[in-house]
Amino acid sequence: MTDIPPHQLPKDTGWIEVITGCMFSGKTEELIRRLRRAQIAKQKVKIFKPRIDARYSENSIVSHNEQSLPSILIDDIIEVLKHSDDAQVIGIDEAQFFNEGIVHICNSLASKGKRVIVAGLDMDYTGKPFEPMPQLLAIAEYITKQHAICVVCGNPADRTQRKTTESERVIVGAANIYEARCRKCHYIPKEN
Ligand code: ZN
Repeated sequence: MTDIPPHQLPKDTGWIEVITGCMFSGKTEELIRRLRRAQIAKQKVKIFKPRIDARYSENSIVSHNEQSLPSILIDDIIEVLKHSDDAQVIGIDEAQFFNEGIVHICNSLASKGKRVIVAGLDMDYTGKPFEPMPQLLAIAEYITKQHAICVVCGNPADRTQRKTTESERVIVGAANIYEARCRKCHYIPKEN
């Protein structure tokens, strides 16, 4: 797992970290781990998630293994700015659900000296890049691509298999609708 050793953390500047991968790859868990460590170091941390993701808990980010941290629910990424003046570390979960404005916002926060940690899906259920994650990956100083385990063959999994035939890009759900698969075992479900 890529993480920045504490002695190598940049000084006197902000930066962007992106944690990405398929569903069930532990992105939120890794985000929570980094934010907790920042809190233990007495840094001021603010955490945001899009309102679309009301799974598990309204006012927390919660990983599939039920770790959680209090978060602010926002409709538009621009709202991060008005809550972040005194924050040293900013966490954003489910970044794929925000519009491309997130790229400018993250850049501007990092340029103000803040550490910005963003977690999100890099591909949709068909295996296509999930904007704005490709743009965030390009501007980030540090990238961690997490893997799950393919439920079919046990290989490392980087794709999200939808188990239903709806073709909307966003259907919020968890293990009832999605599972992790490798390239070999992943397919695009056909509508009936
Ligand atoms: Zn597989």
